[in-house]
Amino acid sequence: MISPKLLKIPIERITAKGFDLPVLLGAEWMAHWQERQPGLEFSLKSPLSGTIHLEKVDGYILVRGMLKGELRLNCSRCLESFLEPLECRFELVLRPGLPVVAAEEVELTLEELDEDYYSGEELDLEGIIQEQLLLAVPLKPLCQEACLGLCPYCGANLNRETCSCHREKFNQPFALLSKLTKTSK
Ligand SMILES: [Zn+2]
Ligand SMILES: [Zn+2]
Repeated sequence: MISPKLLKIPIERITAKGFDLPVLLGAEWMAHWQERQPGLEFSLKSPLSGTIHLEKVDGYILVRGMLKGELRLNCSRCLESFLEPLECRFELVLRPGLPVVAAEEVELTLEELDEDYYSGEELDLEGIIQEQLLLAVPLKPLCQEACLGLCPYCGANLNRETCSCHREKFNQPFALLSKLTKTSK
């Protein structure tokens, strides 16, 4: 396992010749991240592995990555956890950060604000990897395209069981209403 410390890359190490950095991040790394950022809605089933290529071109840093792993996600409809393979490719161009003094004099256009910068002595590759992972994880994960979700009345997982709520609703339109009035008393 590569330790997260190794993901801080000294800028001077990145040259025009470029190099490939093998990445292998496992459960321990994920647990650390979850500690620092509670509310992450996924975890790693198998370690995240891949390669990140770093290269300097005219003062810009080129980051090209390929990461593979297996995610454990929670279905947004039935709430069950399921596994999904992940393959994430990305390419970023980082501009050298503006010196603090100059930054006040230079007016940034919107387009420029959208770009990523690097500054200081080190490149935080861990932050970049985390950002790319967050982009790769689906916003509303589904265990299957046709997931039936949970019954809104009794909470049964309709992928696994059928309940009688729908039938009741159609045959006795006032059954639910009377149930509600009873419970609210
Ligand atoms: Zn589901
Ligand atoms: Zn039901």
